[in-house]
Amino acid sequence: MRVVFLDIDGVLNSDRYFEEVPWPEGASWWSAAAIDPRAVARVNAIVSETNARVVLSSSWRRRAPLDELCALLRSRGLEQPLLSATPSLYRTPDGVRLTRGDEVLSWLASERDAGVIVDAYVVLEDEEPLGEVEARCVRVDSRVGLTDADVARAIAALQR
Ligand SMILES: [Mg+2]
Repeated sequence: MRVVFLDIDGVLNSDRYFEEVPWPEGASWWSAAAIDPRAVARVNAIVSETNARVVLSSSWRRRAPLDELCALLRSRGLEQPLLSATPSLYRTPDGVRLTRGDEVLSWLASERDAGVIVDAYVVLEDEEPLGEVEARCVRVDSRVGLTDADVARAIAALQR
């Protein structure tokens, strides 16, 4: 299995998107309005080219149940339902702050324990530190969100 860990803010939206598309009056931040369908289409392109599954690593996963987030992303064009989301770890028992990279590694370890073989993965992320997972990151520029160049990098990394 190939996996795309998906961030939302700065990846599926961007400064440019918010400049171009007027914000609907009264819309909540955690709504379809904050998701750029053009960026979602680029996730579809990665998925269709590599047969990857999508796992949500965005903080949005703490805002709503996964099925609601699936429906929201589908309403903006995501063709494949989310597989799952990474766990929220925050800190170790002795107070060390854990990163989004640690959450990715924890997700991978759980899948491995369940007998799932992950052949390759990429993390689409604009700002969060990823620690030892940084080498698997496609760093997205939050000013423009996910680009065609990012898609090409992600596909290449998944097919390596
Ligand atoms: Mg982000």
